[in-house]
Amino acid sequence: MVFPDFSPMMEFPDVSKTMEFPALHTNHSTTSHDTPHPKTSSVPQTHIIPAAHGHAFTVKKGEHFRIVDLYGEQVVDFAAWVQHTDLIEKLSMAYTRYHLAGATPAIGEYLWTNRDEPLLQVMADTVKVHDMTFMSCFPEMYAAAGLPKHRSCAENMAEVMAPYGLRGGHLGVTDPFNIFQNTPNYALKPLGSSKPGDYIEFKALRDCICAASCCPYDLKGFNGGKITDVAVVTGIPAAVG
Ligand SMILES: [Zn+2]
Repeated sequence: MVFPDFSPMMEFPDVSKTMEFPALHTNHSTTSHDTPHPKTSSVPQTHIIPAAHGHAFTVKKGEHFRIVDLYGEQVVDFAAWVQHTDLIEKLSMAYTRYHLAGATPAIGEYLWTNRDEPLLQVMADTVKVHDMTFMSCFPEMYAAAGLPKHRSCAENMAEVMAPYGLRGGHLGVTDPFNIFQNTPNYALKPLGSSKPGDYIEFKALRDCICAASCCPYDLKGFNGGKITDVAVVTGIPAAVG
């Protein structure tokens, strides 16, 4: 199928209006295959993830970052690995559900790793509707639907994490935190709820590598029936969040 071309000149909602801080620097990257590079600057940087693609990025301990839905109703699969653990210690939705005694993190609560340590703290959340029960969409799912070439979150994650050392292709990815995915109580219905400019903001408690996939699932009305670009904003001043 054909996905919309990403153009650096395309119009998208003014992210800075939702950011609460000035001088937002936008990095209009046109590829999802960036060479890994640490973002240590305290100046906020925005990376636009083209519709149906993925992006990996590093954040430092104490750094705040946001995942922004630019056009609304777009799910973003998210995962994170602790730096310098050979990708062994990672975000775990099972541990997180245990600590939350549920599957809905409130502002101020944490996402936990498979070593039972808090890794990310939710600092702000304009939606408060996410999912931590479902896996990423995966290639076999689309192949079974007659779409063997369809992009998937699992492959997006594998693609962007391979330069960081993730092995096993899409079988090597971990269970995601499905940001903006409205699937309460295991119901898989198109219940989009995020609006243009909505975001969730995290604070990293340790240095980590994050991966985000703009979910390509365009069947049955999911993602508003149309896959759209999302943004990752790193280097947000802690005092703002
Ligand atoms: Zn997906």
